[in-house]
Amino acid sequence: MAVTRTFSIIKPDATRRNLTGAVTSKLEEGGLRVIASKRIRMSKEQAEGFYGVHRERPFFSDLVAFMMSGPVVVQVLEGEDAVKRNRDIMGATNPADAAEGTIRKSFAESIEANSAHGSDSDENAKIEIDFFFAADEIVG
Ligand code: ADP
Ligand code: MG
Repeated sequence: MAVTRTFSIIKPDATRRNLTGAVTSKLEEGGLRVIASKRIRMSKEQAEGFYGVHRERPFFSDLVAFMMSGPVVVQVLEGEDAVKRNRDIMGATNPADAAEGTIRKSFAESIEANSAHGSDSDENAKIEIDFFFAADEIVG
């Protein structure tokens, strides 16, 4: 398996409850390395652009408002098979369906306020990393 990169967000429900470290620990314990990280407030343009694929979904405007409701931590993660590894560490979108020990099972408040984002393919990981990070911000 190759070492690859993925993109992660620690969502506002997690930063609000002071879980930045706890979420990051799960990523690190699962074999991922944080090679870039910044705490930001998402603008409306960023939140709408980032979740553009969900524009037609009924939850889109709530999701955009949620992502702007507090600080988030955007991260680039590196490790063996990083996209799948991160999805496994996060667990299912709905915390009710997430496996024991996953970020979402441990921390999520709801299907919307589910504590973490992770890219779903290598192709989208690159797009999402480039959306939030300049090359010189990815420092290893
Ligand atoms: P994932 O984050 O697991 O890749 P999706 O890409 O399907 O899931 O959805 C993006 C985000 O939109 C989810 O993480 C969650 O915050 C929100 N979301 C997804 N489905 C719903 C829903 N049915 N109701 C409210 N919010 C949702
Ligand atoms: Mg997704």
